[in-house]
Formats: sequence, C-alpha cells, structure tokens
Amino acid sequence: MSVEVFKLIDTHAHLDEVEDLDRAIEEAKQVGLVTVIAVGQDYESNLKILDISEKHDGFVYPALGLHPWSLGNMDASKVDLTLQLIEDNIEKAVGIGEIGLDYDKRVIAAADKERQKEAFKTVLELARRYDKPVSVHARYSWKDSFDLVKESGVKRAVFHWYTGFSSVLREIIAEGYFISATPATEYHDEHRRAVRETPLENLLLETDCPVTYGRETKYQARPADIVRSLRAVAQLKGAEEQTIAHQTTHNAVAFFGLT
Ligand SMILES: [Zn+2]
Repeated sequence: MSVEVFKLIDTHAHLDEVEDLDRAIEEAKQVGLVTVIAVGQDYESNLKILDISEKHDGFVYPALGLHPWSLGNMDASKVDLTLQLIEDNIEKAVGIGEIGLDYDKRVIAAADKERQKEAFKTVLELARRYDKPVSVHARYSWKDSFDLVKESGVKRAVFHWYTGFSSVLREIIAEGYFISATPATEYHDEHRRAVRETPLENLLLETDCPVTYGRETKYQARPADIVRSLRAVAQLKGAEEQTIAHQTTHNAVAFFGLT
C-alpha cells in the first residue's frame, strides 16, 4: 500500500537547531514538503538561518526574528545589532519571526514585560514598514500579543502553536490573522480546542522542530513530522487529509508571498 504524498509547507522550523540537517531535509522532501520557513531568534541564529536558506535555495526560506527567550541574554546594544541585521537582510526574508511575548515567570525574570513589549513593538514596526508577515510566540500573553500586533498595523500575522483563550482566538480570526497547528494537535487539549475552533481559511501547519513532543512516547520533531500535524488536523476536523493539505498550503503560499 502506498502512502499518498501531499504538497506541504512547514511554516515554523528552527532549522539552525536541527541535527543532521541535510538528512532531515531529504526526509522532509520525501514526505511531501515543498517549502520550509526557517525562523530565527537572535543575532547568531538569524545568521545561520540566512546561511541555511542560501544553501537550500528554493526550499528553505528565511524569517528573521528576535525571540522573547533570547532577550534575557542580550544587552541593549545586542538588541540593536539584531534589529539592524534583520533590516539589512529584510529583502531576503519572507517574514519576521520568531517574535512575541512570553509571560512565563522564568522568562519574565530574565526580561520583564515592559522590555519584552518594547522589543516586540520595535520589530513589529519593522514588519509593518516593509510589509512582512510575522510569526508570533504568545505564550500566556495571548491578549497583549494580539493587541500589539493589531495596533502595529501589521496585516499578516500567525499566532504559532496557539493554546490561548477562545475569546482572543475569535479576535485573531476576525482580524484575518492565522494560527498554526503543530504535532501537539495529536494530544494537547488547549491546542486541539484552538485548532477545532479555527476555520481552515485561517490555519497553517508547522512543526516548531526540533521541539520534543509526545505524552508517553516522546520524540524530537523534524520537518518531516509535518505529516503528524496534517493527520491530526484532518482527524480533528473530520476532513480528508488532501483537503487540509491543499488549503493550508494555499494559505501558506499567500501568507508568505511565495511563488
Ligand atoms: Zn518556535
């Protein structure tokens, strides 16, 4: 029995952290991935993402970012340097990400809410000015993250691996923004609820690799695990895998302006 292969796009992957990347990319192509959006998080990872995208030109596309987790390790001048790097390479970038706010108490201890918001606003302004879509990390900060994105005037935003309130999700959808489904759609209650409540027109697929997933059996994700996201979304929505693949890939192409 052959497995049907669909054209898929992983819209959020930390390829700079994936081991044996060449092999991971080969596997990804075998399961039907046609594009991977590689997201950066700080100065060094943005440089690596640019490098990887050049090497895998036409398959990997870079998004450049400034992650709230990275802020705690950066002084003001490093933040400025990172913002400058993003702007200098903005024409190569298909998006700005990973950016956002994280209100987990350990993250706040390293970079408080005000500092996170200041950096987020600055990078959102960059995205607005160059009309780039943004990939947003909004853990425990769903409402603030949404409000800042909306206030910034950014037109295209994806709240990646969304697990927040349904009330904020309704605002995200009403604004024409997106959420993306990870392999956690197989088992994570809040994420499953969000995916269920999001129309297919507002949904993208991703892996957030090399994140570790699973309840009993844990595994470290690679881009090829996009098929887990696909199957889980199809099951949850009671739809054909082909329908989900077609619509989410169509969404991703439009969202990132891929041709
Ligand atoms: Zn991520």
